[in-house]
Amino acid sequence: MELTLNRDAMRVELSGIRRFTYLVRDTPGACALTIGEPDMNTPDIIKEAAKASLDANDTHYPPGNGYPYALEAISRYEANAHGLKYGPEEILLTVGATQALFITLQTLCNPGDEVIIPTPAFGLYEALVQLCGAEPVFLPTEHNRFQIDPDQLRAALTERTKAVILTSPNNPTGCIYTKETLDAVHEILKDRPVFVICDDVYRTLVYEGEYHSFAEYQDMRDRIVVVNSFSKPYAMTGWRLGWCMADAPIRDRLQVFHQYCVTSVPSFVQRACVTALDSDTTPMAETFRHRRDYVYGRLTDIGLNVQKPEGAFYMFIPIAQYGMDSLTFCERMLREGLVGLIPGIYFNTEGYMRLSYCYGDQDLKEGLDRIQRFLSGLAVCA
Ligand code: PMP
Repeated sequence: MELTLNRDAMRVELSGIRRFTYLVRDTPGACALTIGEPDMNTPDIIKEAAKASLDANDTHYPPGNGYPYALEAISRYEANAHGLKYGPEEILLTVGATQALFITLQTLCNPGDEVIIPTPAFGLYEALVQLCGAEPVFLPTEHNRFQIDPDQLRAALTERTKAVILTSPNNPTGCIYTKETLDAVHEILKDRPVFVICDDVYRTLVYEGEYHSFAEYQDMRDRIVVVNSFSKPYAMTGWRLGWCMADAPIRDRLQVFHQYCVTSVPSFVQRACVTALDSDTTPMAETFRHRRDYVYGRLTDIGLNVQKPEGAFYMFIPIAQYGMDSLTFCERMLREGLVGLIPGIYFNTEGYMRLSYCYGDQDLKEGLDRIQRFLSGLAVCA
């Protein structure tokens, strides 16, 4: 008897970032600079809103897309805070940005379609594209200051291209796309049957430069899906809450996958979402800006040629000069230097490692001291 499982489920591996994070956690005495979530706790006022909902027995099935009051609150917030006009009927509350991306790709892609992923990129995209039976097409950006090269994008497009995923600010580089880059992408895509998925989950963590989302190109709104999350701006990673926005005909199809997958997000967290949207995210952004400046200063002093990130809470550090692949390098640094960073290969880019500054000042100082000590014992290749 031969048992067969789904072909796509068999070709996708569990997340390399998670695996490496567990390796760091299980290394005695190691200092981790790996985690991709705010180290702060969810603000009390948000937790109180969820507790009040539970006490009011808001524990029954809610509407599939989210309570109307929650969708209206998101619609208002998007218009007021970010100038994006999506009505409640164009919004869907999801189980984190992860599920928003999952249902988006499932809704858009057929087997054999191609999805363009500028790299370095969060590993989730590759897996989700493959789980649709579609093909990821990687577009390297490390030779262009992590901006998309228009000629390269044009060359990557084929008859089978279904979508392009844009992440700004980016995980793992922290870079934001310039207006010039976005204009060029828009110019290339505006007359093509290609969707753009905007993963804007780090949008509230921008420290300098002018931030623009591709979602602003509303002449393409029939081909844009915007993905967002409560995880990062409000320190709510464990709540598993996000949302997506799309032109009504697409949103109506997204809800099919959503409904048959999870029915809805939980009922008693939705008031807390509204409370979160009303809260001020600037103190958290200021904390991260301060840490970014410290980490960037230290890495530059060490002699590492790191590009200063404009947003998110990561730095992508070049290590090609040490003549090792990124996994070997990070394994050695963990074993010998007792400090954990994520190998660049897990973001589809060799020659780099990702540092997260979601840690307090003491931990950052200790981690950077250890990186400095480890590097001082390594030879640099010519
Ligand atoms: N997109 C990016 C770029 C991310 O970095 C993450 C989380 N690390 C997600 C999406 C998923 O976020 P969520 O917790 O909302 O599922």
